Amino acid sequence: MRRPIAAGNWKMNNNIDESEKLIVDLKALVKDVEDVEIVVAPPFTALSMVSSRLIGTNIKLASQNMHFESSGAYTGEVSVNMLVDVGCEYVIIGHSERRAYFAETNDTVNKKLKTAMNNDLTPIVCVGETLAQRESDKAFEVIEGQIKQGLSGISVEDAEKIVVAYEPIWAIGTGKTATKEQAQEVHAFIRKTLTAMFSDNAAAAIRILYGGSVKPENVDELMLQEDIDGVLVGGAALKAESFARIVKFQ
Ligand code: PEP
Repeated sequence: MRRPIAAGNWKMNNNIDESEKLIVDLKALVKDVEDVEIVVAPPFTALSMVSSRLIGTNIKLASQNMHFESSGAYTGEVSVNMLVDVGCEYVIIGHSERRAYFAETNDTVNKKLKTAMNNDLTPIVCVGETLAQRESDKAFEVIEGQIKQGLSGISVEDAEKIVVAYEPIWAIGTGKTATKEQAQEVHAFIRKTLTAMFSDNAAAAIRILYGGSVKPENVDELMLQEDIDGVLVGGAALKAESFARIVKFQ
């Protein structure tokens, strides 16, 4: 019922040549995949080139970030119109690195989410707890706050189009993956929170991705979990072979 998504976040990696090689290799490796939505989020400088290579393929383009205002005096920022113009269909919002290093809050996440939805860009909203929060039994409280504040003021109809990514911060880029049980527990909790905010139907339609050291070796068991509808991948998305294997989870 929920179409799985495999999204690769290239972060601040790959110049234009490197991005071109990666996307050309990836295209060839996943060209026959039909049942998974494949998404790549290159750095801003490579969006235009990657976009041109994706025409007529089964891979969609995402931005790693955007500003919530549509235009104006925001030096260094990129607007939703610019992203749509370059061919983006998705935008990652509130990644933990943006929250930690660039002062993003649940409030800015909410503003960006609304701007994205008003412009038909599908948001991938990231939530997740730190290790300290998990160890002090605060994980669920933190995640509930991120969902409730981040997604506040959204209509039930719009809510169905949102993609949520659960990314425990202690598992990002560390090689530590949440166990499939830990991940499923949080995903089920997120869906319960979404049910209370919106409706059974909306919560059942929303795709919830897992992110945090996903690799070819652990993707299959994660994807077998009832409430895991896909993955958001960092490091393992930088190699065409490993990301292609993740896309072809079993
Ligand atoms: C990420 O940053 O979204 C991520 C999940 O990174 P990694 O796969 O490298 O842990």
